[in-house]
Amino acid sequence: EINEVIDYFLKHMTLNYEKVLWILSLNEENLKEKIYKVADIVNKTLNTDIVTLKGVIEFSNYCKKSCYYCGIRVQNDIIKRYRIPIDEIFEIAKNGVESGLTTIILQSGEDDFYSDDDLEKLIFRIHHELKTAVSISIGERSKEAYKRFRNAGASKVLLKHEAINRKIFEDVHPDKDYDLRIELLDYLVELGYITGSGNIIGLPGQTLEDIAKDIIFMKEHNIKMIGMGPFISTHNTPLENLENGSAELTLNAYAATRLTIPFAQMPATTALGTIDRNYQFKALNCGCNVIMVNLTPDEYRENYNIYDEKIKVDLLGTAQRILDMGLKIPPYTLRNLFIKEAQYGFSNE
Ligand code: SAM
Ligand code: SF4
Repeated sequence: EINEVIDYFLKHMTLNYEKVLWILSLNEENLKEKIYKVADIVNKTLNTDIVTLKGVIEFSNYCKKSCYYCGIRVQNDIIKRYRIPIDEIFEIAKNGVESGLTTIILQSGEDDFYSDDDLEKLIFRIHHELKTAVSISIGERSKEAYKRFRNAGASKVLLKHEAINRKIFEDVHPDKDYDLRIELLDYLVELGYITGSGNIIGLPGQTLEDIAKDIIFMKEHNIKMIGMGPFISTHNTPLENLENGSAELTLNAYAATRLTIPFAQMPATTALGTIDRNYQFKALNCGCNVIMVNLTPDEYRENYNIYDEKIKVDLLGTAQRILDMGLKIPPYTLRNLFIKEAQYGFSNE
């Protein structure tokens, strides 16, 4: 059947639902390795062997929502909340760009403390003064806000659909914002954002069929960045006793997605790295082509507990490991890392 998958891909440059499901269901080591290799070749042929590094600033862990899986949900009163002041966010972004990052991701809980005006100005400054791409991952804001952010210079948005099966989605999102989310995603694509979405692997009641439908949904809705991570159980949340999602299945999902949406930017996620750091790097040979490194200063980051034991993905260590694997990082990132080393000996990493 593996040959049928390859033939189908070569003919259509994508896969259909049945082929995706077949890849997701692979258990046998030998077959899995073969399909990972195929996804890897497709990625490196079409997108090169350069792993893009993007810098995430987790600027607030306040959130007004109650997603059952998430450690910073509003009901979690045992975590220490923080908000990084706007000027400090800018400085962190500046430091990231000087270190060689070319995309800054602004991420937070859904926190209305930062007005649309505040975020618009911040995006404008980061994009224009630092001459860098800005990606936003702040949950649901109004269409008008997203339009303003786009005009201010944000070119990418991450808004995961989490689960395309309505029941699975509504079982973990008490505000039942399923339709709103899908409509917003389509609107973001329409606005010209490079739009990112994705699911959580291992949600209650989820089957392989559901994950296959998640992948086909993203293909059909023009999603260009794919964030798929395993569920990680988190204390003091309604899902604290649920088992973590499978790292193995996550790799199968990466391979299937690479063959379905071949040009996608697809991070080897921090969630996967939290379950097993080796798998995060292995994912770079299974179809993934991005790693998100953490720019949030430690004093804040320690409280961005969206899930338990969340690892710190540091720029230098990650870049080093990618190079050790025989893969590349973008020349600009490499050059700036060298310059920084010459100036500071990496002491501020
Ligand atoms: N609040 C924004 C939102 O939800 O889109 C952005 C930040 S939110 C922390 C980013 C992503 O974290 C979510 O899309 C969700 O998939 C993921 N996440 C949260 N808790 C998780 C958990 N326990 N396991 C795996 N992923 C989780
Ligand atoms: Fe808030 Fe996002 Fe966590 Fe949901 S996943 S509780 S919206 S931070």
